[in-house]
Amino acid sequence: MNPFSYARPDDVPAAIRMAGETAGTKYLGGGTNLVDLMRESIEAPDALVDVTGLSKAITRNPDGGLTIGAGVSNSAVALDATVRREFPMLARAILAGASGQIRNMATVGGNVLQRTRCLYFYDEAARCNKRQPGAGCDAIDGFNRIHAILGASPSCVATHPSDMCVALAALDADVHLEGPDGARTVKLTDLIRLPGGHPDVETELKPQELITAIGVPPLGFGRRSTYRKVRDRASYAFALVSVAAALDVGPDGRVRDVRLALGGVAHKPWRATTAEATLRGQPATAAAFAAAADAELVGAVPLRDNGFKIELSRRVIVAVLDELAGAGQ
Ligand code: SF4
Repeated sequence: MNPFSYARPDDVPAAIRMAGETAGTKYLGGGTNLVDLMRESIEAPDALVDVTGLSKAITRNPDGGLTIGAGVSNSAVALDATVRREFPMLARAILAGASGQIRNMATVGGNVLQRTRCLYFYDEAARCNKRQPGAGCDAIDGFNRIHAILGASPSCVATHPSDMCVALAALDADVHLEGPDGARTVKLTDLIRLPGGHPDVETELKPQELITAIGVPPLGFGRRSTYRKVRDRASYAFALVSVAAALDVGPDGRVRDVRLALGGVAHKPWRATTAEATLRGQPATAAAFAAAADAELVGAVPLRDNGFKIELSRRVIVAVLDELAGAGQ
């Protein structure tokens, strides 16, 4: 591990200022991913600015939405009474994401910025465009069972590992940012990039910009939402496929509105807008859910080892929507 300096600012402006003082500075949240990457010499920051003491409130907004400070622990979000009641998919996603110890350490901001668990990314003997731009990608012709089926590129087929972000994508969450040029807000699904030709550039963050909070807009049917994660073992594993969904069914049995996002299938949490559009106005039946899933997955491209993810995604989408439809009858 390289030597690095450490600072713990008192407020956000001080954090942004400190991040500009040393080239190669990284903001430090709970460190559950960054410190591992530093131990493996995948990340080698010259300075760490510890932001775990900042932005630690969960605020209920007058419109019924939430503002969740970036420094709030994953556990605190999952245990928050309003989150559990109004947005159960978010609590369930976080609880599915990691052990209690990691949830206690990990922050919301750090969860958003955690890096892929592609095995080749962690193996310094392997070619990886994300770790070393232009080197190539050993995953494309290698062992790629856990890799992407949607939105991948010839440069990178990695997936985003977060469960929390899948629920936030379905909830249309905003990310509040502050940097040297002031504050701005972007959609979570716009902040995290697809790999394209530059998988090393994972977000739209500008230099020194800090995530200060996540905004969750109100969702009238948020209470009828859930998250399901399919993985190789019951705990301590990342998603092969996960689904966050909320469903609003009218008295006529037709879908009034739906939110759907997939995890484990792309370089970013995948908001399934095609499936949503296909389903609105349709009867809330397994056949309609399957047709919506098929519409979303028509563009899926399997690699040698992960073709099963297409059918698995389809089945989990149908199962989750079926469950939500049944819960409201
Ligand atoms: Fe690196 Fe992406 Fe290829 Fe994995 S899939 S080896 S992260 S370039």
